[in-house]
Amino acid sequence: MTPSSPLRLRLDGDALVSNWKWLAARSGVAACGAAIKADAYGLGARDVAPRLARAGCRDFFVAHWAEAAAIADQIPSAQIAVLNGVDENDLAYARQLGAIPVLNTARQLALWRESGGGRCHVMLDSGINRMGIGPEQMNAELFEGLEIDIALSHLASADEDVAQNEEQLEAFERMAGTIVCNRKSLANSAGIMLDRKFHFDLTRPGLALYGGIARPEQRSGIAQVVRIEVRVLQIRNLTAGQPVGYNASFRCSTDTRVATLSIGYADGYWRGFSGKGRACFKGHDMPVLGRVSMDLLTVDASLVPDLSEGDWVEIAFDLQTAAALSGMSQYELLTGLGKRAERIWS
Ligand SMILES: *Cc1c(COP(=O)(O)O)cnc(C)c1O
Repeated sequence: MTPSSPLRLRLDGDALVSNWKWLAARSGVAACGAAIKADAYGLGARDVAPRLARAGCRDFFVAHWAEAAAIADQIPSAQIAVLNGVDENDLAYARQLGAIPVLNTARQLALWRESGGGRCHVMLDSGINRMGIGPEQMNAELFEGLEIDIALSHLASADEDVAQNEEQLEAFERMAGTIVCNRKSLANSAGIMLDRKFHFDLTRPGLALYGGIARPEQRSGIAQVVRIEVRVLQIRNLTAGQPVGYNASFRCSTDTRVATLSIGYADGYWRGFSGKGRACFKGHDMPVLGRVSMDLLTVDASLVPDLSEGDWVEIAFDLQTAAALSGMSQYELLTGLGKRAERIWS
């Protein structure tokens, strides 16, 4: 027997695939890859990767070697790139697994070459100043003898219309132009929506695959992938003046029917939703009352008389709206989704 779960994520596989196809079409002649690091932004890499591979995705990006190992058997015909690079301890494993390291530093480039070389990617830092070879470090010897598939770089501000985008584009072209590689790649979800000169040979969306809206132009083409459903654990009728939740941050101004739901900040429904989030039942909105607790959430069910203990309700989780309400980024909302929720793919 398995215990029942009072909290579930409904994950829409068709929406995931249609988002990838839309981004692939927006990538023009460039191929479209997928960033599936952090367990596919919390959705589950083992569920996401094969669906995208079946749709035609051939290039997957993770951050850690263990993340590559977790999906390698599922997408044998695709290439997995490990963004965070290699150190001595990873070398043997990397070669055995067959995932491709993204080499970020002069030390990593030397390590890979001296340990036998083979196909690799190279991260060039065009201005995010976080990971990769900086412009001041560029020289031909660094890359000598390496079999470089992709020269990549990462945009810092593609979700905004700022001069930094063009500056990074120019810096990337300058740097990548001096090395021998098969392919070039610059754009993330937001970068795809910039001019097509940002596309190069391969784009690398993450957020938008999972329903995030990185730029307003994506509202028309990107569908919600994650829906949160929770059970009603209890319902009580309170009277004017009674407090609800920790520190009595909400006090009923009138008779109020309070439903307690099985979700809290331990599930990634952060305290920023306190007094701001919403649950929905059969088209009726139920505003969050008071603080979000660790495992519990209280909502106002006064206008929903047919709601009963044990019913399932949906938590409003349109990512753009939820981010604005909670003060968290869309990335944090996705990657924070708790592990104890049952994940149901359709
Ligand atoms: C996370 C990541 C991406 C995907 O970025 P999104 O903004 O989620 O589309 C692409 N490239 C690199 C190097 C990344 O780290």
